[in-house]
Amino acid sequence: MTGPVLAVDVGGTKLAAAVVEPDGTIAAQATVPTPVSPDAQIVAAALDNLVREVAARGPSRRLVGLGVGSAGPLDPLAGTVSPVNIGAWRDFEILDALRDVLPGRPAVLAGDGHCMALGEHWRGGYGDRSVLGIVVSTGVGGGLVIGGRVHSGGTGNAGHIGHIVIDMAGPGCACGGRGCVEALASGPMIAQWALEQGWSPGDRPADARTLAADARAGDRVAVRAFQRAARALAAGIVSAAALIDLDDVVIGGGVSGAGDVLFDPLRAAITDLAGLAFVRRVRVHESTLGGDAGLLGAAALALEAARA
Ligand SMILES: [Zn+2]
Repeated sequence: MTGPVLAVDVGGTKLAAAVVEPDGTIAAQATVPTPVSPDAQIVAAALDNLVREVAARGPSRRLVGLGVGSAGPLDPLAGTVSPVNIGAWRDFEILDALRDVLPGRPAVLAGDGHCMALGEHWRGGYGDRSVLGIVVSTGVGGGLVIGGRVHSGGTGNAGHIGHIVIDMAGPGCACGGRGCVEALASGPMIAQWALEQGWSPGDRPADARTLAADARAGDRVAVRAFQRAARALAAGIVSAAALIDLDDVVIGGGVSGAGDVLFDPLRAAITDLAGLAFVRRVRVHESTLGGDAGLLGAAALALEAARA
């Protein structure tokens, strides 16, 4: 069955929903802050209100499916989510909670990194190319699209580029491991390293956005901080490319907004670190969809489920 679908993107700071047409056009869209509450039902009610409001604003044709992308960890088969940054939800049955919105229609759940990668793949016209999507933000997430489909892995968690180990003696990571890409290249870790090296944001927020502005203005520590993060990302990308024979990498998330101060050293580091021709050919792109990539990927999953 074809027709518009409902797409949902669940994050620690915001909840987003959209009605998406089969060609990828967003017909209606809204976002609300994620409630900060220990009560699972309060967060659920905010999502339910948002989803119903967006569904009502969409086309009058019947919605044919529901796609949900969520911060992890999550269990796509069980339909449950336990986002690190939404403490009220532990094994929260998100698909059951939303099933009343579209009774009798297929509902699918996937990680936000998977949805971002799929959205970029779909709307970016990558076709049969193998694409790694990377979200560089508070953490470093990602997803793989191979042969036009998300590669989910045994538990639905494949594509966690942020937790590829690139420095065996590196700093501890939020995941409990050590030396991960995320421990060197997430927004907070880039800013923290810069502060340790003497960077002073003054009365501005001590975050990656401020640091990026200073890097663009030529601040030496800020420039080095992005060079270091870029080299960490490059190491992860080169490792992934060697394993999977990647064609393209699309990078989104707030930190990607740094632009050339991140992407120039990133491309240079890939050239420096990669040896084999099939690894060196990987191409890095800045996201063109921004925050909509996750919603579009969730929509793509819903459209596929509705056609099945
Ligand atoms: Zn890690």
